[in-house]
Amino acid sequence: MFKVKTVLLITALVTAVAVVVLALLGTNSAKQAYAAPTIVIDAGHGGTDGGVTGAESRVTEAEINLAISFMLEEELISRGFNTVKTRTSEGTAAIVTGEKQQDMEKRKATILSAVPDAVISIHCNKFPSSERRGAQVFFNPHSENGKTLAARLQDSLNILNIVEVGRGFSSLGGDYYILNCSAYPSAIVECGFLSNAEDEKLLLSEDYRKKLVKAIADGLEKFLYVDFMKAR
Ligand SMILES: [Zn+2]
Repeated sequence: MFKVKTVLLITALVTAVAVVVLALLGTNSAKQAYAAPTIVIDAGHGGTDGGVTGAESRVTEAEINLAISFMLEEELISRGFNTVKTRTSEGTAAIVTGEKQQDMEKRKATILSAVPDAVISIHCNKFPSSERRGAQVFFNPHSENGKTLAARLQDSLNILNIVEVGRGFSSLGGDYYILNCSAYPSAIVECGFLSNAEDEKLLLSEDYRKKLVKAIADGLEKFLYVDFMKAR
């Protein structure tokens, strides 16, 4: 009797260990099949184009976007991603002049030469009503991949939105150059509203920026390792 029990116990243990090992192998093989994905990180605005300005601190969006982009890069590299940035300084992405068109074309060229698995464009939002808050993701409605990527990012960011704003949001379709300029899965992450004092405080906080980049990285991983593997 004792022996039967022991055998059953050992069988149960071996099965449990096998289940865990197989689950881990599954995740790892998904990651290995998609080893070192390349992500373009686009810090919106820069140089003479500061983007929107913080109502209280007068901080420019360009400044915040750049800081968050560097933090996102660090986070993604720590997770085994390759990264390419369209802007690495306070100047515009354009080489010679600060003209917007040239700046955007330079960003497009960076994206095309990177041949990325995804493009994440970092921005901050503004709305006439100062009540409006939260992180909001945009996609090109003509891109299925972009839509899926945006939904994953929005789901992940909604964990923060629920804590800070009390509710989550849906990702939105939009007509933006950075989303339309390539066929790679692309999303704009509007990290919060600089027209809202509480969001502005969060966007200036190192701690909140860390949470933001982790949420973006989590959403990206789900897109690459879950959606991509399903689509194969
Ligand atoms: Zn912007």
